[in-house]
Amino acid sequence: MEPIQKLCESLGAEECAVICSNVSRRFLSGVPSSAGTLLLTCESGTLYLDSRYYEMACIKKERGLLPALLAVEPAVFSEAFAALCQSGKYKRAYLEDQRMTYAEWHAFEKKYPTLELCPLENRVDALRLVKSADEIRRIRAAQALAEEALTATLPKIEAGRTELFVAAELEHYMKLHGAEDASFGTICVGGKKSSLPHGRPEDIVLEKNSFLTIDFGCKLEGYCSDMTRTFCIGRADEEMRRVYDTVLTAQRAGLAAARAGVKGCEVDHAARRVIEQAGYGEYFGHSTGHGIGLEVHEAPSFSPRYEGIIPAGAVLSVEPGIYLPGRFGVRIEDLVVITEDGGENLNRFPKDLMEL
Ligand code: ZN
Ligand code: ZN
Repeated sequence: MEPIQKLCESLGAEECAVICSNVSRRFLSGVPSSAGTLLLTCESGTLYLDSRYYEMACIKKERGLLPALLAVEPAVFSEAFAALCQSGKYKRAYLEDQRMTYAEWHAFEKKYPTLELCPLENRVDALRLVKSADEIRRIRAAQALAEEALTATLPKIEAGRTELFVAAELEHYMKLHGAEDASFGTICVGGKKSSLPHGRPEDIVLEKNSFLTIDFGCKLEGYCSDMTRTFCIGRADEEMRRVYDTVLTAQRAGLAAARAGVKGCEVDHAARRVIEQAGYGEYFGHSTGHGIGLEVHEAPSFSPRYEGIIPAGAVLSVEPGIYLPGRFGVRIEDLVVITEDGGENLNRFPKDLMEL
């Protein structure tokens, strides 16, 4: 059953849900837009769009690409909804409390005083946890394209190039080959800067015998990819190798622990234990992984605090790292589709230390 239908069927006869966030509206309707409102009732969904998006949505509807119960209207939502409220059709409306501001909630309350407003909580996000085969296909394709970009860029990476050059080459390749965009600002940090887990690329020249960490991804058909590799430009010394091997062992331990039915924190512990036992525990400050889909970071999570059960069909990253301030850092990240008996790694790109 389509997610929009599940949500509609969970509503009572005098209830409605008003979906205003771009990401939830897109997920439920299949129509990407930066504005619009999706109104759901127990039996139907109506997507209100302005002229910037209406025609595109109608074309998708004609081609059978939108959910069957969804109607598309060129109307202004607030006017249409005011009329529906006046007719006494709805007594209760669910709003996206987690994706709207306090001011927006109160403006809604003031505008439609006859309605009882209730928080929708995470009911849409919960529907996004388990990906459909089509969503997994899109993430897989996005990850494959990112890997292709990295393979094509690798021969151009050498001492004397800048971080920005490498980032631009990757993004250029991905867009030339069909990506809508990068899935987030490409992280490309060399030398001492590789100790910054989310450092931004700058006009800084890459130096010989130093690490370069690249964390990047692209969006294809709305879905994100995300991967990280750390390379050595020139030769790695003994400590650089030790840190690299520790991160790689931790990442493999995390991947091995990832399966349906485990708590998210158990996968984090599996990876973190390896890093702690090697004596680098204090230098791994972030979570082991995050869910990915329409957003680059979404539920569920491989965080030390995530007690939720990871379901089959969820897609998450496994990305431990070690960051030695002022010296260097290493992170290795793959995406995994959770299955009953383990996880399918969406990455093919090698992980053993490469000296470029
Ligand atoms: Zn990443
Ligand atoms: Zn990530």
